[in-house]
Amino acid sequence: MATLKHVIGGERITPTANQWEDVINPATGEMLGTVPLDDTHALDRAVQRAAEAFEAWATTPILQRARIMFKFHDLMTRNQADIARSVTIEHGKTLPDASLEVARAIEVVELAASAPSLLKGEVLPDVSRGVDTMMVRTPLGVVAGITPFNFPAMVPLWMIPPALVSGNTFVLKPSEKTPLTSLLMMELWEEAGLPPGVLNVVLGGRSTVDQILTHPTIKAVSFVGSQPVAEYIYRTAAAAGKRVQALGGAKNYHIVMPDAHIPRTVEALMGSAFGSAGERCLAGSVAIAVGSAAERLIPTLRQAIRDWKVGSGLDETNDMGPVIREQSRERISHFIRTGVEEGAALLEDGRENPVAAEGFFLRPTLFDEVTSTMTIAREEIFGPVLSLMRAPDLKTAVDMANQSQFGNTATIYTESGAAARYFRDHIEVGMVGVNIGVPAPVAIFPFAGWKHSFYGDLHATGMDAFRFYTEEKVVISRFWGTEQP
Ligand code: NAD
Repeated sequence: MATLKHVIGGERITPTANQWEDVINPATGEMLGTVPLDDTHALDRAVQRAAEAFEAWATTPILQRARIMFKFHDLMTRNQADIARSVTIEHGKTLPDASLEVARAIEVVELAASAPSLLKGEVLPDVSRGVDTMMVRTPLGVVAGITPFNFPAMVPLWMIPPALVSGNTFVLKPSEKTPLTSLLMMELWEEAGLPPGVLNVVLGGRSTVDQILTHPTIKAVSFVGSQPVAEYIYRTAAAAGKRVQALGGAKNYHIVMPDAHIPRTVEALMGSAFGSAGERCLAGSVAIAVGSAAERLIPTLRQAIRDWKVGSGLDETNDMGPVIREQSRERISHFIRTGVEEGAALLEDGRENPVAAEGFFLRPTLFDEVTSTMTIAREEIFGPVLSLMRAPDLKTAVDMANQSQFGNTATIYTESGAAARYFRDHIEVGMVGVNIGVPAPVAIFPFAGWKHSFYGDLHATGMDAFRFYTEEKVVISRFWGTEQP
């Protein structure tokens, strides 16, 4: 089994560590490689190489930096199938889903390629007689990214292209569960002409993260992962004087109105709740049926669940692959047991009918009669479990959804503009869907939730990404000779 290597200053470095973790194909249980968890020398070395590369990169003309984005974009597009395959093998999601993830990642590269327009500053001549004022955006220096297992291609690329094109150098610590795609994309960055040291990939676990959070040379930390870790990252890195954006976990509510188009609503709900085995921060995990909607929704939903094909993500006829690890399957099964113990009605049990002897498979689970106080209505399950709740009217449904500690996304299914507008204006989340199962904004818009789904100020992607990765500098100038020509 291969020991995966760091990429530091353009070199492949063999790790030295006390603790290691296996990278596993969750569909087969096959070992794909092993990663170090606590290689402290590697992180120091990567930060040093990134710091050494900074000045030359920051002074590289922006058009030249943007051209590397174009080249990388071209390589990502040409290699989309291989990257998607890597995502499927290490994460388990189906190939079409992985391909969509790569397409979403490519959109961020497109955003970064337009940086020469987006990073232009502001100028106002003669703010006072003979005095001009201009604002320019300057890069921060060495910045770091810490990413989760569930989007091995997209989440690293939420961070890297905007950070690099803005003139920063970067240290990425990918998830120890899914590091292979980051290493594959690193080869494409090199082929695109990125100079050594500008982007470094350090493999590691918690102790590597802790080193990042307090490293004096690192100016900013971007994090995506679970809520408790996001909060910890925000507090620790901010206390160490760093700029931080930390995107955390979620519990996404979907409200189904009596006038919803049921076949399309079920299709959207199925994709949202069970696509990628529910391992998405945008996964719909609670559906609130308003008024008479439940009677129309439930039979179609149950049938769709029974028709849902579970198996290897490499088989394109499957709708859903495995969850990431055996521990995840146990954790999700525990949530299902808790749901039953707390009084919810288990309509479809995803623990039944095992899919295969190997791999970490579950089938979709559907609960009904779920109430706001139940654990399955409050906590992020991060697996293929959908809980149904009931509400007499839209206002009550929105109030129920707003009780959540999280605020990533929420969706309404309706044909009524008035209902959609009420929902849009009163729901407390960062990303709102109207008849959209997975309301993930394209990269030209900012991406992040509210409440405990996000810690920080500037969101990922959109103009926020450039604001996050640059510092504004205002220059006020007067030239005595220009007062009397
Ligand atoms: P995770 O929090 O376990 O791990 C994320 C990263 O943090 C990894 O790189 C890991 O090495 C590191 N890490 C884990 N525990 C740590 C600790 N105690 N101290 C320091 N570092 C630690 O998350 P995950 O299981 O890889 O990813 C799934 C989670 O990510 C879900 O909660 C999901 O909702 C969330 N997520 C959120 C978004 C979003 O946009 N809000 C997007 C994707 C995933």
